[in-house]
Amino acid sequence: MSDLFKNYIGGKWVESVSGQTFDRKNPATGELVATYTKSNPADVDAAVSAAKEAFKSWRLYPAPKRGEILYKVANLLVERKEEFAREMTEEMGKVISEARGDVQEAIDMTFYMAGEGRRMYGQTTPSELQNKFNMSVRKPLGVAGIITPWNFPMAIPSWKIMPAIISGNTVVFKPASFTPRTAIRFVQDSEEAGLPAGVVNLVMGGGADVGNAIVEHPDVPLISFTGSNDTGIDVATRGARLNKRISLELGGKNAVIVMDDANLDLATDGILWSAFGTSGQRCTAASRVVAHTSVQKELVDRLVARADTMRMGDGLDESVDIGPVVSANQLKSINDYIAIGRNEGARVAVGGGIASDGNLGRGHFHQPTIFDDVKAGMRVAQEEIFGPVTSVIPVESLDEAIDVVNGVKYGLSASIFTADVNRAFRAMQDIFTGILYVNAGTTGAEIHLPFGGTKGTGNGHREAGTVAMDFFTEWQSIYVDYSGKLQRAQIDNQE
Ligand code: NAD
Repeated sequence: MSDLFKNYIGGKWVESVSGQTFDRKNPATGELVATYTKSNPADVDAAVSAAKEAFKSWRLYPAPKRGEILYKVANLLVERKEEFAREMTEEMGKVISEARGDVQEAIDMTFYMAGEGRRMYGQTTPSELQNKFNMSVRKPLGVAGIITPWNFPMAIPSWKIMPAIISGNTVVFKPASFTPRTAIRFVQDSEEAGLPAGVVNLVMGGGADVGNAIVEHPDVPLISFTGSNDTGIDVATRGARLNKRISLELGGKNAVIVMDDANLDLATDGILWSAFGTSGQRCTAASRVVAHTSVQKELVDRLVARADTMRMGDGLDESVDIGPVVSANQLKSINDYIAIGRNEGARVAVGGGIASDGNLGRGHFHQPTIFDDVKAGMRVAQEEIFGPVTSVIPVESLDEAIDVVNGVKYGLSASIFTADVNRAFRAMQDIFTGILYVNAGTTGAEIHLPFGGTKGTGNGHREAGTVAMDFFTEWQSIYVDYSGKLQRAQIDNQE
């Protein structure tokens, strides 16, 4: 058996009180990656206690000094980027170039939030009275519960943990059970960089045991959650009863519009990368292509020709284009959608099956799949499949294209390929997604802009950029009266 990886609570690596463990296997090969301690609510209790204790001093630690620790974390990530990327590929399957990108996002976010330690701007305003000074300052809330999915195992935790701690909160972090090792590496780097004990605590285990216990813990006032809609709504519902602050980043059904004046070389590249990158398991994946009928055939022919030659295999092999999907269940769920699409009358233009030739049979591989002649209301055009599957929906005009893009319950990302600046601006104005690209695919967000979705994708919060601080801080408005007397307006103002 490989070494047992443990929880990190109050600055110590400790086994769960349950004494149980769980394994993670490489989704490309079926080989054991690592064994982890399997936690229960008692471990969450211990982690919350440690975080609550650490909050007393961490909130008073000068923010620029917190930033200096974050700079050290980022530098360690830079040094170990290749090692962490390789481990990530073994753990969840994305191809090595994308795993490097995932670690790079964590590096970028950590540097960015380190700098926030010297900003964290509030406001000063004039006062209605003489000899009075008004300002507002950001304050941390306490212990932040951080619950993350497996598809961006280092980037997403960094989007949450770094803004949480730079603003003075402490953290109890539960990574997805498919990707604890990457989470451990991130926490080990934080420890090595000198983050005080208890500021970040890691508890590994399942959603039912560990996730629930974090959400319902009375000493955790805020929860930052990224994952599926069903789980997210459940987390928000239970959290709301306890009057918690909850941030949700959920699913997507993102679309690429290809107009009749589009550069088809560019559009083909953009679609393939956004639809099949990370085997389609990105929240921003392009799972719909809304194509003008005058270019539909040409576009589909190009996509099919390219998809047909994409190499599937172990993502550690640099020549592989598409790695495995994360698990056997995920593979089945993706493949079930192929039957659903066929039954609805969509035409499989390429792919459409599980790939099991030779070594692929050891892992969970699905062929890159394109449905053509899809109607906007079909389930494959409405529901998040979370696999290497995209649906081409023909339209006659920009107005119709925009209606199709907006006609789903999600609102994360969209893009338009066009050479006409007027059409590009119409798309910017009329598409209601949190992220919009012009002449690029639906993926590739940069960490200094807000990230998140509208409608069913979230609940209005945004990650990344300076707005990330809004979720992790409270405003305190402060009035300083240096007149030495009770001034008249204080009597008149009733608030
Ligand atoms: P998931 O909902 O199954 O799990 C997410 C996390 O929640 C995991 O850590 C899981 O253990 C935990 N969890 C499960 N049940 C819980 C419970 N009852 N209480 C508390 N926590 C619980 O999602 P997943 O399969 O890991 O991730 C895929 C989903 O995430 C997709 O829908 C994808 O679109 C979405 N996602 C969204 C974004 C975004 O920013 N919008 C980014 C990445 C992924």
